[in-house]
Amino acid sequence: MKVAKFGGSSMATATQLQKVGNIIQEDPARKIIVVSAPGKRTPDDVKITDLLIQLGEAYINGESYEQCYERVIDRFREITEELSLDITLLEDIEQTIKSVIGQDTSSISKLDALKSIGEDSSAKILSAYLCSIGLAASYINPKDAGIIVSNDPGNAQILDDSFARIYNLREKVGILVIPGFFGYTEQGELMTFSRGGSDITGSIVAAGVKATLYENFTDVDSVYAVNPTIVANPKEIRTLTYKEMRELSYAGFSVFHDEALIPAFKEQIPVCIKNTNKPHLPGTNIVAEKKQDEKCVVGIASDTGFSSLYVSKYLMNREIGFGRKLLNILEDEGVSFEHAPSGIDDMSVIIRDSKLTKEKEANITKRIYDELHPDTIIMHRDLAMIMVVGEGLVSTVGVAQKATTALASANVNIEMINQGSSEVSMMFGIKAEDLNRSVESLYHVFFD
Ligand code: ASP
Repeated sequence: MKVAKFGGSSMATATQLQKVGNIIQEDPARKIIVVSAPGKRTPDDVKITDLLIQLGEAYINGESYEQCYERVIDRFREITEELSLDITLLEDIEQTIKSVIGQDTSSISKLDALKSIGEDSSAKILSAYLCSIGLAASYINPKDAGIIVSNDPGNAQILDDSFARIYNLREKVGILVIPGFFGYTEQGELMTFSRGGSDITGSIVAAGVKATLYENFTDVDSVYAVNPTIVANPKEIRTLTYKEMRELSYAGFSVFHDEALIPAFKEQIPVCIKNTNKPHLPGTNIVAEKKQDEKCVVGIASDTGFSSLYVSKYLMNREIGFGRKLLNILEDEGVSFEHAPSGIDDMSVIIRDSKLTKEKEANITKRIYDELHPDTIIMHRDLAMIMVVGEGLVSTVGVAQKATTALASANVNIEMINQGSSEVSMMFGIKAEDLNRSVESLYHVFFD
């Protein structure tokens, strides 16, 4: 039994839905289908989920939301009419949006309920379409599927009890179409996962039913060895391990949601990333273990938007608890850190800029001065991280030398190196302005 998840671009138009129908028809093992909300039809189009968020925010702020509402309905009308589906489907979507808006709930609950309508409607439309082409398909609500989540609106986490309930889906006959992106708390309240979370639903369901394969259909042929906007036509990755994928998606590889790896990884369900527009291509397989080939580097990931909080104090190494106290201050401010490279008298804490407001930064700096009495505190901004990723890389002779030579030949100063903390990656911190030429140079050294 396979679980196939189709992303926003695969659900964006009637033509795309027909391709989805063909893919499902081609393989009877594709029994459970998870879908996203209709995504962008063209690069400057707006995703249905974003329209629903705009609608909800306008309503909550007392502004006019009718235009957003019309745009959502028009998109669904276009799809249902082109597929000649029953008009009641559209009426049902209109009714659902109106009833969520009218409900006497908090703004946060309303927003999550509105956001979920994209996926929910998509699943109902696909299931009706599959029936219209002669397949026995039915829509399953995430509550009935057994997807029980924590009470964290917009960032729900799956609860362990869900998996045993989801296993029961194996008993159901026909093709099951489940909306991605949301689940329900034990108390029955709807909660969405983080953005892009339909991948997470797919992985949860694949783990729950113990699928033989989790196929993730998107709009790229495969996972590439490097960001194609930096290096033109990069090599495709055929097979990579869960650990390698995790490291790559941490630093900017957005093909597959990083949280989505966890359920598949726990149950060791292989994942295959494929293109809905070219389903005959092999795509990229993500597996627990792979044969070690002579090339130990599988990909180079990079991301900007980092700052480094540098703290130095003479004889820091002798001061028991210095690191803990420093990280405690960050914890108190609700700021997570990415890496913490340290020396004998200094420590840098790398933080994503998105986690740090001006106010939090001021509080953190003041408390470090007051409580830890350092000699220096400096906030280095505009940093980028590059991860050179591959199983076995850390134990292979000469990789670091190759990477640092590549950076030197691109005339890039390395601000930070972290090698060995992870078994599968080597991390370089550089100035964001040097990013593109660093990545190009590393790519040529490892892949040309
Ligand atoms: N529709 C949701 C989003 O845009 C979830 C998804 O597409 O996976 O974030």
